[in-house]
Amino acid sequence: MIRFEQVSKTYPGGFKALEKVSFEVAKGEMAFLTGHSGAGKSTLLKLISMIERPSIGNVFINDKNLNLITPSQVPYARRDIGMIFQNHRLLQEHTVFDNVALPLVIEGYTQGEIAKRVHAALDKVGLLDKAKCLPKILSGGEQQRVGIARAVVNKPPLLLADEPTGNLDPELSKEIINVFQQFNDVGVSVLIATHDLGLIARMRNRTLTLKQGRMINDGLQQSLQPEN
Ligand code: ADP
Ligand code: ADP
Repeated sequence: MIRFEQVSKTYPGGFKALEKVSFEVAKGEMAFLTGHSGAGKSTLLKLISMIERPSIGNVFINDKNLNLITPSQVPYARRDIGMIFQNHRLLQEHTVFDNVALPLVIEGYTQGEIAKRVHAALDKVGLLDKAKCLPKILSGGEQQRVGIARAVVNKPPLLLADEPTGNLDPELSKEIINVFQQFNDVGVSVLIATHDLGLIARMRNRTLTLKQGRMINDGLQQSLQPEN
């Protein structure tokens, strides 16, 4: 599903955020991406979602080399990827339904199809009864689930999450991860960037670890040394 081949990313100004990173995430796999703040987790996710481009090396999604995708093709290629952020970036003046519907409205779906898909997505994250609410009356965990519903509403085969539990207590964090697990159970590939080692320790997923831009571990759980 995801393949990095010797990928380096140097930002303008010369900062090396990633260096010679290689790994694969198989179709249907759910993995964590961890490392201290500044290790390069967000950069790695941005290369997958084509927000940034590699300086050297190749990124493949579904065996398609992203270097060969032209800027005008990027929006189409992104349809295969659902993105979830720590700050769910919800439109506060619009209902939960409208927030989740947004990607489908942009794609020009019919009203009937939109209603059907939004209800299916809200059902999957357990928020069907909140469809008519404004986001601000929801709890942090519920708002995050709205963000997840919006990311999955067009059924992408790959979900990327950047610190999805950043603002949540351990119990709510576990609930959010369980939502991802449910999508993974039906075949969706999931990559979750997090520095929440307690959360990772409670799961039995593969964990990719970045340190100063290098992939230092690719296995089942890894304890990070204290930052020095
Ligand atoms: P993480 O998600 O692990 O905290 P990031 O990928 O956000 O790490 O950042 C890795 C490093 O790259 C950081 O030192 C950060 O300051 C730097 N960086 C991130 N984005 C940019 C940018 N647009 N321009 C310059 N440096 C950046
Ligand atoms: P339809 O609208 O075509 O009837 P559903 O919404 O009922 O489809 O979903 C059909 C199946 O696809 C469900 O079992 C659902 O869990 C699964 N599925 C596969 N990939 C995804 C995804 N990325 N997001 C949501 N559901 C998905």
